[in-house]
Amino acid sequence: MGKYVLDSEWGTKYPNFKKAEFKCPCGKCNGYGNGIATTLVETLQKLRNKYGKLQITSGYRCPAHNKAVGGSTNSKHTKGQAADFYLDGFNNQSNRVNMVNELKKTKYYNYSYTNVNGNHPNMGNVVHLDTKLEDTDDAYKTFVRNLQEAIGANVDGIAGSETVSRAPTRSTSTGWNHKAVRPLQVYLKSLGYDLGKCGVDGKFGKDMKACIKKYQKDQGLSIVDGVVTAKMYTCKKLLKLY
Ligand SMILES: [Zn+2]
Ligand SMILES: [Zn+2]
Repeated sequence: MGKYVLDSEWGTKYPNFKKAEFKCPCGKCNGYGNGIATTLVETLQKLRNKYGKLQITSGYRCPAHNKAVGGSTNSKHTKGQAADFYLDGFNNQSNRVNMVNELKKTKYYNYSYTNVNGNHPNMGNVVHLDTKLEDTDDAYKTFVRNLQEAIGANVDGIAGSETVSRAPTRSTSTGWNHKAVRPLQVYLKSLGYDLGKCGVDGKFGKDMKACIKKYQKDQGLSIVDGVVTAKMYTCKKLLKLY
């Protein structure tokens, strides 16, 4: 699971949601900031499975739009981690309060509120939910598991010597096409790295090389050459940057 929902996951992994439902309505920003948090959409999809129709009334808000609609300065709406939603049939206070209590028990819960006794009159019948970002250790473990699956190593989420020795490294500049590239791309993207216009395509092209260079630079490595080394697979230091 990446930090943000991948374009390919809308309508598939999250069958009842479209990215556009979370778009900032201002018309002046890119609509989604850095992306919509996986933890948020995962939680909403579970609710959708349980309760049926769920309508997002506000998803991502750029800081300017958030200010214009009176949102708090550090609102998680500006981080892609919050949504206001309405569920079919949840049209009274006790429904909404029950929903907030249910949300508190969910895995990625950070905060939720709703209009109680008129304290948030402009919320109507909607419920606000914001979620924590995924634990970065989890993201790393997911990456290692995906990698192990791709290279046929024992899948245990730990980049031990078997994984590292089997995980390919590359030394030529472009055209590296290996099944290990995709998990690496998914992982880098989940950490907020820009994969350029090729995106997650399973190929090691120019964009990927630039991305690896950025990664090496961010880690303060002495060699910034865009080459994947075995050490990269075991390097968790990167996670501390996010
Ligand atoms: Zn906007
Ligand atoms: Zn909200």
